[in-house]
Amino acid sequence: MGNRIPDELIEQVRESVDIVDVVSEYVPLKKQGRNYFGLCPFHGESTPSFSVSPEKQIFHCFGCGAGGNSISFIMQLEGLNFQESVQQLAQKANITLPTDAIDTVKNPQSTEQAIMHEAHEFVKKYYHHLLVNTAEGKEALDYLINRGISKEEIKHFELGVALDSWDAVTKVLEKRGYSMSIMEKAGLVVRNERDGNYYDRFRNRLIFPIHNHQGKIVAFSGRIMGEGSPKYLNSPESSIFHKGKLLYHFYQAKNVMRKQNRAVLMEGFADVISAYKAGVNDAVATMGTSLTEDQAKVLKTTVDQIIICYDSDQAGINATEKAANILQKEGFTIKVAQMPDGLDPDEYIRQFGPEKFNSSIIEASVSLMSFKMQYHRKGKNLLDETVKFQYIKEMLQEIAKLSQLIEQDYYLNQLSKEFSISIEVLKKEFGQYSNQANRITNVTEVKTDIKRDISSKTLLPAHVRAEQTLLAHMLNSRDVTEKVRQQYQGLFYNNDYSEIIIHLYAYYEEGNESNISKFMNYLPSKRLLEVVSKIVNLQIAPELTERELKDYLDALNNYDKQQRIREKEIDLKKAEREGDFVKAATILQQITQLRSSMKYVK
Ligand SMILES: [Zn+2]
Repeated sequence: MGNRIPDELIEQVRESVDIVDVVSEYVPLKKQGRNYFGLCPFHGESTPSFSVSPEKQIFHCFGCGAGGNSISFIMQLEGLNFQESVQQLAQKANITLPTDAIDTVKNPQSTEQAIMHEAHEFVKKYYHHLLVNTAEGKEALDYLINRGISKEEIKHFELGVALDSWDAVTKVLEKRGYSMSIMEKAGLVVRNERDGNYYDRFRNRLIFPIHNHQGKIVAFSGRIMGEGSPKYLNSPESSIFHKGKLLYHFYQAKNVMRKQNRAVLMEGFADVISAYKAGVNDAVATMGTSLTEDQAKVLKTTVDQIIICYDSDQAGINATEKAANILQKEGFTIKVAQMPDGLDPDEYIRQFGPEKFNSSIIEASVSLMSFKMQYHRKGKNLLDETVKFQYIKEMLQEIAKLSQLIEQDYYLNQLSKEFSISIEVLKKEFGQYSNQANRITNVTEVKTDIKRDISSKTLLPAHVRAEQTLLAHMLNSRDVTEKVRQQYQGLFYNNDYSEIIIHLYAYYEEGNESNISKFMNYLPSKRLLEVVSKIVNLQIAPELTERELKDYLDALNNYDKQQRIREKEIDLKKAEREGDFVKAATILQQITQLRSSMKYVK
């Protein structure tokens, strides 16, 4: 991997390309007023709600909320990472990036990688040819057909077969002049230490080619036909294959995933292929390891919703809970598909058929919280009080991880009803977990309901409108930002806004002037890009007067106070119930003070 591209150069690249040109290569655009409009490439639609602003150099979809600058557009559409997108735009702009910052052909490491890619591509075709066209491959082909894999699926997944031979692949690679030591590094051949000869890594196995996220073949997995071990043999890690960063079938599924804004996460190749057969085209799989943060981040560039569809045995259930925790940190909406006891998706589909898999498993997946409830109570005797309280504690911790207050409230009520514990007590207890969770995640937590809170402008409560309008002005003006920073000590109530403001302070502090498109490079997630592009598209007056600034800050301060009053009112009721009238009087006085300090806002 190359080093980081210097910030100045990133900026030079971003400034040299016009976002209208970049987007036009993928989406036909029409000028309408100051902006261009087209059909959104990120969701299915028939009337254009995808806008590109040449002036601000950003895009925004009024339908699905997608947003960003030219670099994030390439990232999201091509499934590339930040550096790769900058490289792609640099090519377009004819800007040469320093060789130590990128993998160029001149770089020996990358020449070697290019050779590895090419050899993999060649070997993939060779294996596929053996499977579909030759007498030697007939047995393997029959095996697949008997397992219900059709020709169409064999083609889509580019399946192949490695013959029962020690050197079939070695020979064809040698004949084409490939360096055997590079082929060994690529994992295609194995060197025998004793005689120094090279042999095929895969023998007598069905072959599943593994694409990286740009569509290049970087590895293979070989499945044994019939019984034997290991069941799957994978290519070793190499400079082009990092198991923990790749998802099987991501490249082929990315457009479908993006359109549906959903991915089905599975455990193995066979599951993905069976799911595809059932019409579930947005399935991806990890490769024999548990889900990593890197993989979750890749998914985050493409979708917001994940259905986890793992085996239903204990190992699968534990893996589901582990994957869910990683995905939750990235802010996905998560559901869990549940198979009858002991079956994996592949077995289920063979037993009950593809249609039933789609309707009874995928479409019937449950919310993550229902899954967690089952998970935490499994094998527990909830009639035992100690066990019961332990369970309640675990659930409170889970509820604290939820990003939406509305969800938290819902599950707290459910818990209160189920165990006949008063909601006040439960909330009090919950406070300790929720504070812990919020303190850590306040800034990084990603929430899922911006669409709702920005859209219906007229119905918004004063503090929400104040936060939005202020943020819009802060994005446009360094001056306003400085004033808000000096005059308002609290954080914004909306977590996303708070996080954006923290980045904005840092951005201006580095001496940057207001520039939405440039600022977007400072935002670490797709979600924040979406929020910013939405805010920027709100109708606001060009200038913010001192009077308006004051009104908005008053609205925020009032809201803070209202929140404090609400907390105190709970304390007050409790004091009254407990007969502590001295305490109650003190609290009442505090409430009155808070009330009288609130400012009247028009
Ligand atoms: Zn859209």
